[in-house]
Amino acid sequence: MSNSTKYVFVTGGVTSSLGKGIISASLAKLLQARGYSVTIQKLDPYINIDPGTLNPYEHGECFVTDDGAETDLDLGHYERFLNVPTSQANNITTGRIYQAVIEKERRGEFLGKTVQVIPHITDEIKDRIQEVSKEGKFDIVITEIGGTVGDIESLPYVEAVRQMLWEFENDCIVVHLTLVPYLAAAGELKTKPTQHSVKQMMELGVQPDILCCRTEYELDLNLRRKIAKFCNVSMNAVIESRDANSIYDVPLLMQTEELDKVVLEKLGLPTKSSPNLSNWKSFLETLKNPDNEVTIGLIGKYVELKDSYKSISESIIHAGVANSTKVHVHWIHSEKLTKSNVKKELKGLNGILVAPGFGSRGIAGKIEAVQFARENNIPFFGICLGMQCAVIEFARNVLNLDDAHTTEIDESTKHPVISMMEEQKTIANMGGTMRLGAFKCQLKPKTKASHAYNIDKVSERHRHRYEFNNLYLKDFEKAGMIASGKNPKSGLVEIIEIPNHPWFVGTQFHPEYKSTVDNPHPLFVSFIRATLINKKII
Ligand code: GLN
Repeated sequence: MSNSTKYVFVTGGVTSSLGKGIISASLAKLLQARGYSVTIQKLDPYINIDPGTLNPYEHGECFVTDDGAETDLDLGHYERFLNVPTSQANNITTGRIYQAVIEKERRGEFLGKTVQVIPHITDEIKDRIQEVSKEGKFDIVITEIGGTVGDIESLPYVEAVRQMLWEFENDCIVVHLTLVPYLAAAGELKTKPTQHSVKQMMELGVQPDILCCRTEYELDLNLRRKIAKFCNVSMNAVIESRDANSIYDVPLLMQTEELDKVVLEKLGLPTKSSPNLSNWKSFLETLKNPDNEVTIGLIGKYVELKDSYKSISESIIHAGVANSTKVHVHWIHSEKLTKSNVKKELKGLNGILVAPGFGSRGIAGKIEAVQFARENNIPFFGICLGMQCAVIEFARNVLNLDDAHTTEIDESTKHPVISMMEEQKTIANMGGTMRLGAFKCQLKPKTKASHAYNIDKVSERHRHRYEFNNLYLKDFEKAGMIASGKNPKSGLVEIIEIPNHPWFVGTQFHPEYKSTVDNPHPLFVSFIRATLINKKII
């Protein structure tokens, strides 16, 4: 190996949704808490170049990194657990691998050879795995292979893992996640699916070193012995992964099972230090024993699939803990909100959050929710499209610009208060072409935003094509909605707020992508504080 980096591959068997992302993030947390520098990478076997063009119903939220990569939502978990930013290199798809190989072929880089899955695709995969820790940047890279072993599309990835295990045998291990289902009729946990899954791995030439067994009940010694014997792993490498109340419990459950210790032993690394998890434990302590509770409404059009708003709901949890408050989230479908039911639907909420989104479906309900929050002095947080809705609502109902709209929905509106950014107008391709990634934002002193952040310049992540139309800014500011954050270079409005309201803030960027357990996002923290004031708790 070109450097001293060690590699842990995480694969999944039997079924999807076993929580590979959370197990990977939890293992990484434990290793980081022992002093190792760790990163996590996700390899997604689907053919899309990235999930940016995927409907949230297909794949949940699209996470965005500082360098503007549109990625799998697991990267959000990695960042929230590790408090270390990820980048494009941390999420690779089959589409991206093939695109790179085909571009090389067109440049003639294969010198007349036939281009094949082995070695060309597998070499590209292996390069991408190693690239994430260029020049030995990390002690340990955890690479999670998406999908389930046995899927046709994941075969090249398992093959790449097989080759790496062979080439760098002392530096790589495989952790395989499986399911140990409980059969009610037999009253027993069943190990056969795990045995089959490991057998399938072995047919592909990969012997897992550690098995993480997802189970609803305790794996007793007999079951562990049986799994170890049938699957060629040591007894201490059979790890029980029980359903947890909170994803934030999982690192501690894995510590009890000594997953981190077994991993280090198998990688030939010292195990003497023990993880320092004091911050994590005090976070959990408050999460489980909060002093207060509030209820907020989250208004969105994908509320049936809560994964669509993963980073937002996790940011709310972090901000709740920062305020020692349990935040109940009332999920409200924006398509179902109308002028006639908005009062009934939103009554009693201590705060209203209007979610990001694209297109016209549900936008009328979002605008109703904004108006209700503004007129009833309920703390309001609008994110991206949510902020744009706040601008439209203010234009229509305060500035009396009746047909004010965003040109995303009404191209010929007389009052395009939200309009397409100049640089977006000539773009033809949809994938990866929005305003993406981190941009600086200068805060206006003595505003809610600057009080929340307590610094004067911040960097936040974006994902949009439309913007506040600065031609209207003077009229807005005169009428009581101000720009409290602007891009220092372009002058684009990044934050709006209404000073004459208890807490009414909208951000063109996505603060939820930067909230972590160690660093809850200041705007979310300030929003939850405002909901406590609304409930007259403080
Ligand atoms: N659809 C809006 C835009 O493109 C908002 C995007 C979002 O909410 N992420 O500008």
